[in-house]
Amino acid sequence: MVRRIYLDHAAGRPVDTRVLKAMTPYAKLRLGNPSSVHSTGQEARQAIEQARTRISKMINAKEGELITFTSGATESNNMAIKGVAYRHKNRGAHIITSSIEHMSVLNPCKFLMTKGFKVTFLPVDQYGFVNLESLKRELTNDTILVSIMYANGEIGTIQPIKEISQIVHGTDAYLHVDATAANGQIPIDVGKENIDLLTISSNDLYGPQGVGALYARRGSRLEPLVHGGGQERGLRSGTENLSGIVGFGKAAELVSEEMSTESERLRKLRDKLIEGLLHPIPYSFLNGHSANRLPNNAAVRFSFIEGESLLLDLDMHGVAASSGSACTAKTLEPSHVMGAIGLKHEEAHGSLLFTLGKRNTEEEVNYVIQIMPNIVKRLREMSPLTPSELRKTVQRESDGPLQKPT
Ligand code: PMP
Repeated sequence: MVRRIYLDHAAGRPVDTRVLKAMTPYAKLRLGNPSSVHSTGQEARQAIEQARTRISKMINAKEGELITFTSGATESNNMAIKGVAYRHKNRGAHIITSSIEHMSVLNPCKFLMTKGFKVTFLPVDQYGFVNLESLKRELTNDTILVSIMYANGEIGTIQPIKEISQIVHGTDAYLHVDATAANGQIPIDVGKENIDLLTISSNDLYGPQGVGALYARRGSRLEPLVHGGGQERGLRSGTENLSGIVGFGKAAELVSEEMSTESERLRKLRDKLIEGLLHPIPYSFLNGHSANRLPNNAAVRFSFIEGESLLLDLDMHGVAASSGSACTAKTLEPSHVMGAIGLKHEEAHGSLLFTLGKRNTEEEVNYVIQIMPNIVKRLREMSPLTPSELRKTVQRESDGPLQKPT
């Protein structure tokens, strides 16, 4: 039987068994509606408030500041962006975001453009860092919102959020940060970093899928997108996803206790994997920045081959990886992130994304390092993209690595 090694944690994570255990009574036995007056309902209410407290602690939100539960990061991003836009349209109609945001930020912004808002998409450099000078230049009295992701899951780059926050808070604009990819891997402190609105998601913390939250600093004014019975202080009506929220809260508690140790372990595995791929394989490169990157992210690219064929070959060897964001995987086109960091179409096509997780071991990383050089070599021999002079070298030097171009 082929062994299975899961290295696609950016696309989805297994639910931690301790989280499942915490959720089970709420899914099975205590089916109270948190809005009911009877004691079963009140128990459900308490469980939700406990989850809110645990999540607040994880991101160092002050007691009383709002954590609103949603169906996930996509809804939280929509709630923040459209919520600020609709509520503050009389004050201004300009939004700034970056060109490497997730589609759940880019598409609400594009939608708002059809409603009369002006949106600036800031460029990023070759590593994916937002250009801070452009941010300063683009902010005007009309700007009501700046939305920048904490870290990009496809290339791993972590933004200088504190510096961004200082720039934005020199104006009246709100700062929204999509921390979906970063939360659970690096410390986030909404107080110290002066973040107004923060998107987080449960599954990225090994909690259940389909639940997320939006943190909103006390005093933030958002227009609700979902109207109904007035749950979540009127910001997001609808009966709460009780067991999901309890699981999210438990996952947040585990992050607070275990993240620093686990992230350190992952950083070592990540660096071993990156070095083990780039060193022996010629014409291989790192996507994103070498130091300011997510602890679990090894995003690389190989010239002359297609990421899709690499994925299939790896799958036959029992390894699950990705060519980029799972959300755009169906298109086969390289993602907008690759274009934004300046990669040509053919360069972007050879991208491969490994995202490590809790259960991955050094032995698994060693296995990937061991099988990759031959997979790449074989695909290059078959690839029409491999230059003919190099193809000869590939065949001649079949026992040894090619020299990297200088
Ligand atoms: N933002 C970022 C940065 C993401 O990586 C993702 C995907 N995990 C999302 C938003 C959307 O998450 P979901 O599909 O769970 O709503």
